This record gives sequence, C-alpha cells and structure tokens, in this order.
Amino acid sequence: MKNKTDFPKVLIVASECSPLSKTGGLADVAGALPGAIAKELAEIRVFTPYHKTAREKFSDRVQHLGELSVPMGGENVPGRILKLELGENIYYLLENEKYFSKSIYLGDELEGEQYAFFCKASLAALEIIDFDPQILHLNDWHTGMIPRLISDNFAQSADRKLKILLTIHNLAFKGIYPHSFFEKVFGISEFEESLKMYSDCGAFLKSGILRADLVNAVSPSYSEEICTEGFGEGLSAELRSLGSRLRGVLNGIDYKLWNPENPEIHTPFNRESLHLKKENKSFLLSECSLSGSEKTPLLGIVGRLTNQKGYGLILDKADELMQLNIRLVVLGSGDPKLEEKFKAFKDRYPDKVFLKVGYDEELALKIYAGADIFLMPSAFEPCGLAQMISMRYGTLPLVRRVGGLKDSVKCYDEYGIDATGFAFDNMSSSELFDTLKTAIGLFYDSKTWKRLQENAMSEDFGLSKMGSEYLSIYRELLGIG
Ligand code: ADP
Repeated sequence: MKNKTDFPKVLIVASECSPLSKTGGLADVAGALPGAIAKELAEIRVFTPYHKTAREKFSDRVQHLGELSVPMGGENVPGRILKLELGENIYYLLENEKYFSKSIYLGDELEGEQYAFFCKASLAALEIIDFDPQILHLNDWHTGMIPRLISDNFAQSADRKLKILLTIHNLAFKGIYPHSFFEKVFGISEFEESLKMYSDCGAFLKSGILRADLVNAVSPSYSEEICTEGFGEGLSAELRSLGSRLRGVLNGIDYKLWNPENPEIHTPFNRESLHLKKENKSFLLSECSLSGSEKTPLLGIVGRLTNQKGYGLILDKADELMQLNIRLVVLGSGDPKLEEKFKAFKDRYPDKVFLKVGYDEELALKIYAGADIFLMPSAFEPCGLAQMISMRYGTLPLVRRVGGLKDSVKCYDEYGIDATGFAFDNMSSSELFDTLKTAIGLFYDSKTWKRLQENAMSEDFGLSKMGSEYLSIYRELLGIG
C-alpha cells in the first residue's frame, strides 16, 4: 500500500476529455495527463460529462455507479454516475439527457446551466465514486464555480480537505452570465466581488481563480501575458494578485498518438526517412483535388475558425498570397463569418484552395502529415497543440510570436538553421506575408528545409515534462517536499 501522504490522489474535472469527447486542446490535455504521470507516483482519474460522442464509442463498456439529484433553480435534476476503464485510465462520467446528449457546448444561457449542473454534480459524485481524491484539478470556466460550492458544501467537511488546482486553458472563455442567472441557479443573492464581472454579471472563472489554492496557465508566456491589460480579459488585476500562486506549465502532446511512424497515415515516415513525407503530400493534394506537385508549397490550417486564431490576417492578403503559387488546405469550423470568408476564398481558387468546414480527425492527420507549412498566426494562444503536432510530422509552423507559440517554436529569424519554424511579431498581414515569403524561399532550398524539418521533428513536447511539472504542483499542494 502507498503511504497516503506522499502519493497524490487527483480527480481531473474537465468539460471534455479525449478520447471520449473533444473540441480542442483542453480535451487533449485532460485525456493525456493521467498517463503522463507514472502510476507509482500519483493516482489520477477524470470526471467528465458523458457526452454523446462518449456514448457512441463506449456505451457497452460503462458501469453504473449511482444516481444523483441536483438542485437547480427550484427543481431537482437527476443524473447518473458511470465508470469507464480504458487501459489504465479510469473515468467517471456524468450522464444527463437534457445537458449532455447533444453538443459538448450548448451555447447561450443553457450552456451556463449545463456547466452549473456539472459543477454541482461533481461534488455530489464524490459521495458515489470509488475514489477519494485529495486534489480537484479543475479546468477552465466550466469548473470555476466548484471552489465556491465547496466552501458551503459537505465535500469540505472537517475530515476532507480538498485542495484545488485550476488550469486556465483559455481566459477568453469566462462563463459570464447575468446576476439573475447566478441567483436562480446557485441561489447567490448577495453578489460578492469575487464573482462580479462588469456591473450586473458574474463569471464562473473569476470565482474559480480567486478561490483556488493554485492556478496555472498552459504556457509560461501566457501566464505572464494574462497579467497584462492587453491579454487579461478584464481579470489581469485578479491574476496579478495571485503572485507566486499563478504558474505556467507548457502543455505536451501524446507522442504515441501523434507519431509519423504510425500506420494511420498514408506513408509512415520518420526523421531518417523524411523523403517519404512527399508521398503524404501527393496523397493530400489528390484527396483535396488540388493541382500542384511536390514542388509547390502546400500550406495547412487545422483549427477553430475564430478570431483568436488570427486567420483574418491570411484572408486580408488572400489574393496576394496566391501570387506566391501556393496551395492551401483548411480544416475548421466556428465563426460563421470566417467560414463564409474562407468559402469565398476557396471559390476564387477552386484548384488551389481546399476547405472543409467541420471537425474531422482523419483529415487533420492528413494535413499534419502532408503539408509543408502549418499556419497559426494567432492573436493570442494560451499554448497551442497544433503547432507541436505539425512539428512532429516535419510540417514547419508559421506562427505569431505570442503565448505558447513563442514558447514552442524556434523561429528562423532568431535561430537560423537551428530553427523549427517561422514567426512574426505583430497582428499585421504584411508581416505574415513577408514571413511566408521567407519560408517559401527556404522551401526551395531543399537542404536547409530538410535541416529545419529534422530540427522540428527532434523537439520534445512529449508528455513527461508536462507530467512532472503537474506532479510537483500536486505535491506542493499537499505539502510534500
Ligand atoms: P485550441 O485548444 O485553441 O482549439 P490547440 O492547438 O491547443 O487549439 O488544440 C487544437 C486541437 O484540436 C488539436 O489537437 C487539433 O488537431 C484539433 N482540432 C482543431 N480543429 C479541428 C478540426 N476541425 N478537426 C479535427 N481536429 C481539430
């Protein structure tokens, strides 16, 4: 038996968790963290909604643990707790027809209700599950009300002192709802400062930030940026007030899943057989019905089509970019206006630009494996996983020097032939254009290009570094030296 005091027992609480459900990087990290720390060093399990996608994949493998009834604005809403074991990982799933049988995020005030229910149910579930955590590892606004609920909840009884770590994957999403919502759903009539955002609203995330024992952002640079007015989303003062209780932990990616040697891609390759990458490029070009050959620079985009990702900089210069004789494959969905603009771009260059609006993991992999350059000119980027994934496949990222992109891409203008990608500083389509011209110039210099690809593929963004940083935070929370 492990000595309880030097063996953190952690329950990750997250709105999405790969491979059960995913819309973005949060799911990747919540899914990867339990496996990133050796089982001998900590026990990490996950509490997450039983979303439709999880049901579709795993309904024949879940085990029923118990029922709960959650007071929500005058009615009691039922839920079921299920357990799922996948390999060495253990998940506790919250089932509810109204909130978790459609989209992962329902939008508008219903989304507030959805995750208010999740917050409340997570504490009630502690009485049902066969696991007694010492730490709740919360993620993003969806879990932000949990610390406040704990303060007047049985879960914080004398014999159970839960420690709270809150990870901010994206400060842009704060869970802001009117005061009336918090009154109705949480029964909060006296509106405390630690909840208030703007005059008559409250924010799940603010409450979480101010009540957690420790808070971390998902890259060192982002943890500094969010303390400034420009990136702090109205919470910079609160974040600054945390001082050393605010950390930055760079995310990692699962190199077993994201591996160019895996048979899932058209022609597997590695650093020593980089010449095979071109087979994946030809395959991607033909799958997307694009003209061009191995000699034509092929650019890829995989991401949420939102202003955060800076795609406007590409669209602003769309026609000039096409003068560079490039091909572009875009996969993503999100803001309808951006989707429309990309559609119009594609319609102007049907044999040079491919667009798929939607979520498609298979196509994403084909893009990572087949493209030459991966575009990620984000306005802000808490960490970003897509640029790490693309590097793994020798697809050189072209990014804006911000947040986790700054922490993970070694730019050609600074590092020369030791670089792993390209970067520019300002939100300027001209800067992006000039950087792309430099990248394309190097693309035609195949020897240097190969060197940069090898550099990118040699980087280590695997899970072990992220795992050991979280382990030391868990140990610190428990006062273990
Ligand atoms: P964010 O979390 O801001 O969405 P990240 O770069 O951290 O961005 O993580 C995005 C993750 O989601 C990556 O694994 C990426 O491959 C995946 N992804 C994003 N959009 C799509 C899509 N449309 N289809 C498939 N995978 C996608």
